[in-house]
Amino acid sequence: MRVLVVEDEERLAENIAGILREHALCAVDLAADGEEGLFQACSAPYDLLVLDLMLPRMTGLDLLRKFRGEGRNAPVLILTARDEKETVVALLNAGADDYLTKPFDLGELIARCKALLRRGKGEHSPAIQVGALEVDTVERVARVGGRPIALTAMEYRVLEYLALRRGALVSKEELLEHLYDFNWERFGNVIEVYISGLRRKLEGVAGERLIHTVRGLGYALRCASGSAVAKTRGRGTAGADRSAAGRP
Ligand code: CA
Repeated sequence: MRVLVVEDEERLAENIAGILREHALCAVDLAADGEEGLFQACSAPYDLLVLDLMLPRMTGLDLLRKFRGEGRNAPVLILTARDEKETVVALLNAGADDYLTKPFDLGELIARCKALLRRGKGEHSPAIQVGALEVDTVERVARVGGRPIALTAMEYRVLEYLALRRGALVSKEELLEHLYDFNWERFGNVIEVYISGLRRKLEGVAGERLIHTVRGLGYALRCASGSAVAKTRGRGTAGADRSAAGRP
């Protein structure tokens, strides 16, 4: 998952980025003012925006209104130093999904970010079940038939993304864009390595194919019995966002 943090207080921004990288296993990009934030938010398929309200050059509220005005659906968590009722109402009416009042507890920030990342992919439960496989997005652990499977951090991130888009066809480019920060194009063929590692570790224990490859197109996480459910899921905005992003 990939998050954009728009925050002008440099230390706080770095703090939030570090926490999200470590505890939510996200790729994080930073922007330090509102105009830059809006530009970046519209340039890549982010899974979540963490947006400070008081920003130079453009307020968080204006950024949010313009972002939603572009038809963009990524969840937005607002960081605000104010707690007046009117501001909260204005934020929610402008399309914010949640807000935190400064100073906030970092544990609460992580929990709220994780919840928004799940809900942004149409998933409300913290544990995602695909056949015998369970992906626990709170503990960040995969279990097959209740047994924890030892995964590397990157294997887990690939699996979590596929689980949140379960049943949907996910291209290698989509995985790269959502698992890495703005340097994603440098990572080329690593996805195949993670996929084969995941297959080796999960499918032997599960006794069935879970990660399906569609040659030249991408991957889909599903079990044989879950394929019908799968087609209605994964209606996330990633595809639309990516095509609108104007990447070469
Ligand atoms: Ca600020």
